[in-house]
Amino acid sequence: MENMSTNTVKVGDILVGGGFPVSVQTMWKTPLTPEKKSFLSEIKNLKGLGCDIIRFSVPDTDSAVYLGAIAKESPIPIVADIHFDYRIALECIKLGIQKIRINPGNIGALWKVEEVIKAASDNDVPLRVGVNGGSLPTALRDMEDRAAAMILAAEMEMEPLERLGFKNVVFSLKSSDIKATVEANTVFSEKYDYPLHLGVTEAGPMIPGVVKSTIVLQNLLKRGIGDTIRVSLSDTPASEVITGIEILKASGIKKDGVSIVSCPRCGRASFDTHSFTKKIESVLYRKKKSLSVAVMGCIVNGPGEARHADLGITGSGDTVVIFKKGKIIHKTTTDMAEKIFVEELEKL
Ligand code: SF4
Repeated sequence: MENMSTNTVKVGDILVGGGFPVSVQTMWKTPLTPEKKSFLSEIKNLKGLGCDIIRFSVPDTDSAVYLGAIAKESPIPIVADIHFDYRIALECIKLGIQKIRINPGNIGALWKVEEVIKAASDNDVPLRVGVNGGSLPTALRDMEDRAAAMILAAEMEMEPLERLGFKNVVFSLKSSDIKATVEANTVFSEKYDYPLHLGVTEAGPMIPGVVKSTIVLQNLLKRGIGDTIRVSLSDTPASEVITGIEILKASGIKKDGVSIVSCPRCGRASFDTHSFTKKIESVLYRKKKSLSVAVMGCIVNGPGEARHADLGITGSGDTVVIFKKGKIIHKTTTDMAEKIFVEELEKL
């Protein structure tokens, strides 16, 4: 993989760019409330799955205050997503939120954008400046070349940052158009040394969203383009994190964690691999060691795959057989399988 080096931006304790590991982000899906305990509990859960950074929409100053309280105790850095009102960005910076995402195009007068840049600079808070193919400046909306339009929009947003000498910035150029997203990020990475936040905007529900995101992210990441990723899905933050991690693993960028082989199940299955895999998924993604796990429905391919994994399980008639490093260690019932398998997983 080519090493396309960029500046490094520090988001809380996560380093973005400069050859540091590609971080995985997600976005919170509901409004902020004063009830911080449940937010912190779910953020902890997402961290366990492998989430590095989490972003929240902050539409008003009350939300900024709620997020400020969460950011103080969050186990991962928080990003405040601000549109329209620059004063909310200033409030979030004052409250110590670790990163601010703004769209200078909808903040209004240039002096308001400059106020945010100056406050970020004074408080050493990084910004993410985002170009979205669906909300380009009016002058660029009719351009046929969508990628070129996105680059021009990014350069317009870059002007006040460069003029004020503020380099603590991550850029993003997202579109729901796969080709335009790949081209825009490729050209941007050749011209500029800002780290890139990659993603396909409004990628859709689970299946189309995963397909589009995989095509775009794999294409860019394998060429060394991209420093942090977010898979946007009409699904849960946990699904976004797991998909992001799987894309990094399948692209050969992330080597640790569990590699899962599971059979699709057919009429021969004597063991329900679908529900079993779903049940143990959160335990699997919490393992940071490099391990292989096989979950198989019957004896056609089950013993072969299960034997080759660090830990394997397969249906075999009325029983369920568990393998560890190629050897049978348990013959049990479907009811007991989950408990025994998880215990063995924890021992590995
Ligand atoms: S392992 Fe058995 S249950 Fe699973 S797909 Fe193959 S034949 Fe079907």
